[in-house]
Amino acid sequence: MESSDPDADLMEFVDDEPEAAGAALVHGAGFWRILIIDDDLDVHQATLFSLESLQLFGRRLQFLHAYSAQQARQLLLTESDLALILLDVVMETPEAGLELVDFIRNTAHLKNSRIVLRTGQPGYAPEQETILRYDINDYKTKSELTHHKLATSVTAAIRSYQQLCVMDANRQGLELIVQASGCLLETQGLHMFAGGVITQLAAILGTSPDGLVCAQGDWSNQQCTVVAAAGQFAHLIDQPLETVPNDHVRQSLFTALQSGQSHHGTFETVLYFGQKEGLSMAAYVGSAVRPREIDSSLLSVFALNMSVCLRNLVLMHRLQNDAYVDPLLRLPNRTRFIETISQRLSGATQSDTVALVDVDDFSAVNDLMGHAYGDELLRAFANHLVHSLGSDVYLARVASNTFGLLGPRDVLTPQRLAATAHHAVMVFEQPHVVSVTAAIAVLDDSSYSGADWLKNASIALKHAKRHQRGGYECYSADMASQSRSRAQLLANLHQAFGEDRLFIAYQPQVDLHTGALIGMEALLRWRTEDGQMIAPDQFIPIAEQSGLIVSLGDWVLQTACRDMRLIRDQGLASCHMAVNVSVVQLRSPGFVPRVLEVLAQSGLRPQELELEITESIAMLGADAAASMLRQLRAAGIAVSIDDFGTGYSSLSYLEKMPLDRIKIDRAFVIQLGQEGSPRIAEMITQLGHKLDLRVLAEGIEDAAAWAALRDMGCHEGQGYFISRPLDFVALCGWLARRPQNVSEYGLV
Ligand code: C2E
Ligand code: MG
Ligand code: MG
Repeated sequence: MESSDPDADLMEFVDDEPEAAGAALVHGAGFWRILIIDDDLDVHQATLFSLESLQLFGRRLQFLHAYSAQQARQLLLTESDLALILLDVVMETPEAGLELVDFIRNTAHLKNSRIVLRTGQPGYAPEQETILRYDINDYKTKSELTHHKLATSVTAAIRSYQQLCVMDANRQGLELIVQASGCLLETQGLHMFAGGVITQLAAILGTSPDGLVCAQGDWSNQQCTVVAAAGQFAHLIDQPLETVPNDHVRQSLFTALQSGQSHHGTFETVLYFGQKEGLSMAAYVGSAVRPREIDSSLLSVFALNMSVCLRNLVLMHRLQNDAYVDPLLRLPNRTRFIETISQRLSGATQSDTVALVDVDDFSAVNDLMGHAYGDELLRAFANHLVHSLGSDVYLARVASNTFGLLGPRDVLTPQRLAATAHHAVMVFEQPHVVSVTAAIAVLDDSSYSGADWLKNASIALKHAKRHQRGGYECYSADMASQSRSRAQLLANLHQAFGEDRLFIAYQPQVDLHTGALIGMEALLRWRTEDGQMIAPDQFIPIAEQSGLIVSLGDWVLQTACRDMRLIRDQGLASCHMAVNVSVVQLRSPGFVPRVLEVLAQSGLRPQELELEITESIAMLGADAAASMLRQLRAAGIAVSIDDFGTGYSSLSYLEKMPLDRIKIDRAFVIQLGQEGSPRIAEMITQLGHKLDLRVLAEGIEDAAAWAALRDMGCHEGQGYFISRPLDFVALCGWLARRPQNVSEYGLV
């Protein structure tokens, strides 16, 4: 051995059997494979003799033999991983060897295999250009290649083969990493991501995908779970890591997760990738490729890249979570509910049903008891729904106080839904009976989308809230068309308001005992472009539901105050102007200050303004309502309760309200003329007396009603008998010529 030879120290000649050769052979990585192509049998023998005991870079040599160019061609097409080809230049023909070189590179596509050309005839040297073109390592005459020189030449060639392979693996690995980052980011679930990690890692290691990935952290509240598994581990998916039967595999993964470190063993690679806090993962892939044969920095890059992917994945999961989960109750939200209905529709069974359950008066509960109480009430009620309806029902929160339910028709029945109410849930250890309004829609038409069905159920819920509060409504196609025409009406109302096509009619109010004018009520009117009048009973509820009533009411207040000021300034009358106020307006922020502002701007005196509210003020809660009324009355503004007796306020509630006047609804005045039913107007009148309130009767259409009401003690009245509601010009005319006393009204 020559000491100047740079490869001399890498050569090692061994006599005994290589250890663990069997195991290595299984994975095809324990030998350098050398193909000897020569038509001279002796050359084969001599080469074997020279190289047989050589060991290079930890591997022994394995020889394949071809005795003709023809035989070589067949071998070259079937064999891969040939480190070196020792090739005789002249065989069947003088060109056979060189032609074979072309075949090796261009037909068999063995780009990395090294080629050493050997020739028996010194004169037959290939051109320099040929050597370069075909990437040939060495060209020697057979006589030149002594035992030692051959070994040196083979060593150099194999070293070069090894380097080429490493470079190749790195290049492929990098390509895989780039690919992996791209496609793993697209995959949405953790399972798919982890499955992708095994595949990519196995590809980088050049082994079959046989491994598993474990995750620990805040993903699923489970401590340490197998999130992907392939090959012999496939059955372990979704199991706790503790259940992995192989001690070595289990321990390797635990160690990686605990230490946050990757590890390359002789027969496995364990990669750690994760975050300091939150989710972390470790992948185990069984592989006999020794770590030094793969650039370990490649694995680090892979692990790093996977950490970034994982972080993105967690982020995406959180974003998704935020988009689909209601933060307060941790229930699926409206968006998720719609998606779930859509999924259910695609596998449509006629029995699926959507239900909406709306907690009645929830905003009053919030106002009265505070938001913490309201939140707790929703939580308790959601739990109650789950328990009473069972696990077949999918529960979501679709609006602040509305739950969406999806389940079998025989479970989501009106009876079962009704039973969920009238049951006390515990809120801060206090029983609270929840009243609900519900709607049911059977998914009997899969041409509708999930969003359509939720809309249909919402239409039924609105219906129920209008007509059946505390009850339920089942969706029908009629409802949808009604709802469409309401939407059309609202759009027209918006337009009419914008185009000043609304005006106010005023209806005088008189003292029933003296006939003197005491006030007038402002009543909103809408005349459409084609001159048709639309009744307030039709459009006011729509304006209330849409919130338009707030600006509409503000305009009524301003206009009525301005007109009243004109009436007073013209000396036509000195009395109050009664303006109807919706509970939606009362609930809108800054209502009281706004009334005071309008009043001040109009120059009206506070006692010249009265606000008519309805019993629905109860929705605000007794304390909030009373405090608001107190503020108005403290400013000198009178408050009357309109349509009394038609709402649902209790007497004790009424007693707490600071009021000036009760208005008896027209329905009770009509009854006066009917046999046997005049009692309610009388009772309301007496109640007014007891509470020390003025009592005004609406809808007096004849002198008899006037007289009857007066005789039962009712103080005041309004109605067609006195005057129909009049536009401003007509009102001014009426005021100027109005009857001055009861006899001028024809009463005695
Ligand atoms: P309301 O406040 O109880 O108004 C009295 C209603 O009875 C008015 O109907 C009036 O025209 C009608 N009326 C008065 N006297 C007689 C009578 O002798 N016979 C009959 N048959 N009807 C009589 P209108 O103007 O259709 O208003 C209906 C309801 O619309 C009002 O009931 C009120 O609740 C609401 N409304 C009207 N204008 C406004 C407004 O500016 N704001 C709000 N929030 N609601 C309004
Ligand atoms: Mg009124
Ligand atoms: Mg009324």
